[in-house]
Amino acid sequence: MNRYDVIIIGSGLGSLLCGYILSKEGFSVCILEKHSVPGGCLQSFQRGENSFDTGIHYIGSMMPGQTLHSYWKYFGLSQSLALEPLNKDCYDLISLDGRDFPLAQGFNNFIENLAAHFPASRDFLRQYVSALKETVSAFPLYNFQLTDRHTKNTWMRTNAWDFLYTMAGKGTENLKLLEVLSGNNFLYAGRKVSTPWHQYALINHSFISSAWRLRHGSKQIADHLISAITSAGGKVMIRKEVRKISSLKNKFQVETSGDELFVAGRIIAGIHPQTAIGLLEPYLVKRSFQSRIMSMENSVSSFGLYLGLKPGSFPYLDYNIYYHSSRDVWNGQECKDEQWPGMYFLYTPSSARHGDHTSALCILSYMRFDEVKRWEGTVSSRRGQDYMELKTRYAGKLLQLVERKFPDINSSINSVEISTPLTWRDFTGTPEGSMYGIRKESGNYLKTMILPHTKIPGFYFTGQNLNMHGAPGVTIGAIMTCAEILGLEYLFNKIRDAE
Ligand SMILES: Cc1cc2nc3c(=O)[nH]c(=O)nc-3n(C[C@H](O)[C@H](O)[C@H](O)COP(=O)(O)OP(=O)(O)OC[C@H]3O[C@@H](n4cnc5c(N)ncnc54)[C@H](O)[C@@H]3O)c2cc1C
Repeated sequence: MNRYDVIIIGSGLGSLLCGYILSKEGFSVCILEKHSVPGGCLQSFQRGENSFDTGIHYIGSMMPGQTLHSYWKYFGLSQSLALEPLNKDCYDLISLDGRDFPLAQGFNNFIENLAAHFPASRDFLRQYVSALKETVSAFPLYNFQLTDRHTKNTWMRTNAWDFLYTMAGKGTENLKLLEVLSGNNFLYAGRKVSTPWHQYALINHSFISSAWRLRHGSKQIADHLISAITSAGGKVMIRKEVRKISSLKNKFQVETSGDELFVAGRIIAGIHPQTAIGLLEPYLVKRSFQSRIMSMENSVSSFGLYLGLKPGSFPYLDYNIYYHSSRDVWNGQECKDEQWPGMYFLYTPSSARHGDHTSALCILSYMRFDEVKRWEGTVSSRRGQDYMELKTRYAGKLLQLVERKFPDINSSINSVEISTPLTWRDFTGTPEGSMYGIRKESGNYLKTMILPHTKIPGFYFTGQNLNMHGAPGVTIGAIMTCAEILGLEYLFNKIRDAE
């Protein structure tokens, strides 16, 4: 029998961080991953000479003393990751209405770089930065602080656009600036009507603090954590899809593909809660809990182009581009049919850098699951000719929009790889291939909140649905999950005191 103290389902960032903490604390831990490659969104895939990241393209606040760096020191990541800083004066370029605007690193630098384009808005920019800082300070764990102060959840119930709009007041220059300040909303699948202000603020604050690419791709995060978990006696098992969870004499029995059985006193589900609930035997789950989780809506999915490029044909860009064809930067995910793609996020991977040029390019845009729903019953590489045609058609439309900024892009392309919402659904097990899992709604924040503990004793959640998506959100989520077992003060002190 495979008996463990803790079984963790899935091997995404949240699961691996929990595995690291608990195995270091002496628990016997087994991580069960359905894929042949561990890491979830941390995976990178190889095509020819190029390695493409899937779900972590850049990270924020990795300067010593900043939030993610402070947490990742405990995990040995801050010391071991090879990072490349993005351009100090422009980590994100917001391309809007035929003009380019920079988002710069460092709060004063951020103000000055934007004030050069919006000279009458310097005071507003100062106010904006103060609001970001004030919001982050209301979330102590995001400041690497342990306090008994309650999170000011009015920020969670405040709509980001309403908050910005009210703060800016009327005026054409201000309105344009607000669009620029919201121009990277692909980072949180932003919706004008419902994105909570705290989500906006925590993410933007992290990147303005400092912004980095991973020199050898995001896979190095998974590799480092797995090696540390294994050294501490834990196990990471691939090709083990969890199919059923039942109870067995005050413990859980887990059945995987291949009809293997595992037993543990505790389970941490590092997968989408709607998927996790479906694995539990019905007698373990209260109907009200099940219907609450199942009624939650998910964030939108994406369409991805991963391009191999001819040598010396395309410049390496030390910044990301968020390009918008519409004046309303919040409109991207509403675009369909003729209007699609509406926006794109484009970047050159650090691992593909050859001097001033790149051998690879990654371009992402929103895509709704509806567009591929008719193939939902098919499996990868056997979806049929009409699905291949749809992918080619969408790739062509996306490249047409990219051509407006890079007219020679088509002649630079050597190879093309495409992902759709079905790729993501099969790849992460997330319903409808949703990018960031359960959609946080300012209008009904409590309804969209997932806690680490559940009413099922010993059964916990972790991962991006818990707290917030992205590297800092998932890291803090993993700490909240393990704190349910170890105690928050005990765990936080260990993390704070790590060398
Ligand atoms: C397109 C995209 C771009 C992004 N860009 C960034 C970025 O630049 N910076 C940033 O900080 N964040 C970014 N994110 C967000 C970030 O990648 C995620 O929030 C985070 O990696 C999610 O981690 P997770 O722990 O929730 O697990 P996931 O990565 O979702 O992994 C879940 C794992 O569980 C496995 N699994 C599912 N079901 C089962 C089962 N039944 N049995 C066993 N295993 C199972 C899956 O195979 C998968 O490996 C991006 C996300 C996306 C989608």
